[in-house]
Formats: sequence, C-alpha cells, structure tokens
Amino acid sequence: MVELNLDDYIRKVPDFPKKGILFYDITSILASPVAFNYCIDKMVEIYKDKNIDAIAAIEARGFLFATPFAYRMKIPIIPIRKKGKLPGITLSKKYDLEYAQAEVEVHSADVPKGKRVLLTDDLIATGGTLNASRSLLIEGGAEVPEIFGVLSLPFLNYKEVLAPTPVTTLIDYA
Ligand code: AMP
Repeated sequence: MVELNLDDYIRKVPDFPKKGILFYDITSILASPVAFNYCIDKMVEIYKDKNIDAIAAIEARGFLFATPFAYRMKIPIIPIRKKGKLPGITLSKKYDLEYAQAEVEVHSADVPKGKRVLLTDDLIATGGTLNASRSLLIEGGAEVPEIFGVLSLPFLNYKEVLAPTPVTTLIDYA
C-alpha cells in the first residue's frame, strides 16, 4: 500500500465548537477518495488477521469509517448512539466529554455475546466516549480486544483511560 501523509487531509479549525478547542475535522478526509480509501485499506490491513467478529462504531463520524470496513470484512456493525435515538431495548452509560457531558446507548440484542468486537471512532480525545462504549459492549456480553481511531490526541492521556485494551490510530497530534 502506498503510504499517505494523512495530516494533509485533516482540516484544523481553531476555537470550535468553543474557544480553546482545536477541532480536527475529518470531513476533508471524506472529501478525498484517496485519503478515505487509504483509511479503510489501513483498517483492513491492521485487523484482517485479528479474528474480529463485528465492529462497533460511535455516532456519527465513527459510522463513516466502520461501515466500509464492515462491508469489506463481511461482519456486522453495532451502532453506538446518543441517548434517545435507538428504539429497542438499550444498555446506556453516562460519561464526560472533552467539552460536554453525554450518554451513549446500544441495542442490547445487537451485542454479539462472547464475540470479538472492534470498537471504533473517528477521533480519540479523552477516551471517555470509547470507555463508556466499551463498558456497554462488555455489559452486553461481548469482548472488546481492540480499539481503533483514525486520529488521536495522546496528550489527553486516553491510553490510561482505555488500558488494557490496545489502541491503534493512523495519526496522532501532540
Ligand atoms: P473523547 O470522548 O474525549 O475521546 O471525545 C471523542 C469524541 O468527541 C469523538 O467522537 C470526536 O469526534 C469528538 N471530539 C473530541 N475532541 C475533538 C476535537 N478536538 N476535534 C474533533 N473532534 C473531537
């Protein structure tokens, strides 16, 4: 695979959604088939031999990367959504974000019991969203052997929050 400098495809927006936050926008990856295909090909390369049974993704940008990966791997997608969006019986978990408070939910019937679920999001900041989501999947009876993010902000110490689950990313920002 031809390596790509993904940084060239990530838009950086200062003071969004509030002052002091540098927002890393992945819509500029989506707008480039070269960059988007690179991300999905990378995900497949990293996880193809890791016996992944399903992928769980966090609303909404996580879905964009998990869906083509699931199609390529022929595995189920488990959507993790903000509170109140899923119509069936859910498991739910409250958590703190980098710049807000939130609650995530999953359909309990969609969590594959005893299966290896790759958990994904577009960007890993504090790791709070992924941590809450991992709890949901484990509570639902799945294993979460791996976590993937397209990009991450390691200075927010998400690795401690998400330990001992291995976390793989394509690009990190200091
Ligand atoms: P966290 O739970 O702190 O890891 O936050 C991750 C979630 O918030 C992801 O879904 C990101 O899309 C979003 N997010 C947090 N911080 C940023 C940032 N600086 N730039 C872009 N998205 C962010």
